[in-house]
Amino acid sequence: MQVNDGRTAFFWFDNWLQTGRLIDITGAVGTCYLGIPRTAKVCDAVSQAQWNVRGHRSRHFRELHARIQREPVLDVEQGHDVILWKHSEDDYKPWFSSKQTWEQIREHKTTVIWSKTVWFAQGVPRFSFMVWLVVKNRLATGDRMRAWGLHQSCVLCGERDETRDHIFFACPYSFTVWNNLAGRLSGYRTDPDWEITLQFLTNNDLQYLDKILLKLVFQTSIYHIWQERNKRRHHTGYRSVDQLIRLIDKAVRNRISSLRYGADHKLGRMMQRWFEMTQTT
Ligand SMILES: [Zn+2]
Repeated sequence: MQVNDGRTAFFWFDNWLQTGRLIDITGAVGTCYLGIPRTAKVCDAVSQAQWNVRGHRSRHFRELHARIQREPVLDVEQGHDVILWKHSEDDYKPWFSSKQTWEQIREHKTTVIWSKTVWFAQGVPRFSFMVWLVVKNRLATGDRMRAWGLHQSCVLCGERDETRDHIFFACPYSFTVWNNLAGRLSGYRTDPDWEITLQFLTNNDLQYLDKILLKLVFQTSIYHIWQERNKRRHHTGYRSVDQLIRLIDKAVRNRISSLRYGADHKLGRMMQRWFEMTQTT
């Protein structure tokens, strides 16, 4: 808190002396020793242009008393108190930033190599979230459900064991979808193996737009294949390979059209590129 007229800042509960909250330093008894009520504002501790705080004779509170006396007495001409938010160590600003706050309270870990494959500006957040779950192998696939005594085979092809690596993309159904949409774009380097696929998406020599498109097709495919798997499992729908390909293609186009970054010609080129990639298949 940057204290100016002292009418907003709480004496005991706002950090106005840069020593932390005073109530934490003195405990509840401090209010008696200093003669300042719990609910007092900083301006209530001033009378006749002087700090009116007791405690200089107390062994415990002498130091705090002296610290307050060293503080310049409030000046009502300076305007209102300003609430400051911590943006980083020793950096306080009068506005709140959720990003900077999150950066300070979160646990920092080293960046995983696949982070840009999952999270990127042109991605669809709910697709990205789904890919993140898949990368962490956190979807409720058959092999994970076995711990609950349930046996689940692949509803897309009938294979006995449903695992993450089977659905993405060892399964003939999902590989046909993935290969059809990403084959040309990846220079015909699609692979049924999950690790190889993730590695290729993370590190390849494709040109800029194709890199983005490939990640976009990847996350859109993952999302829709998993959706198809759930529909079949709960008997609420059934789409053929061709129908799912068309659905994913449309979702990719919708996403490209909704992007509003950079100049329009970039957007146009991206759409054009996607048309080229899907025409011959
Ligand atoms: Zn399958």
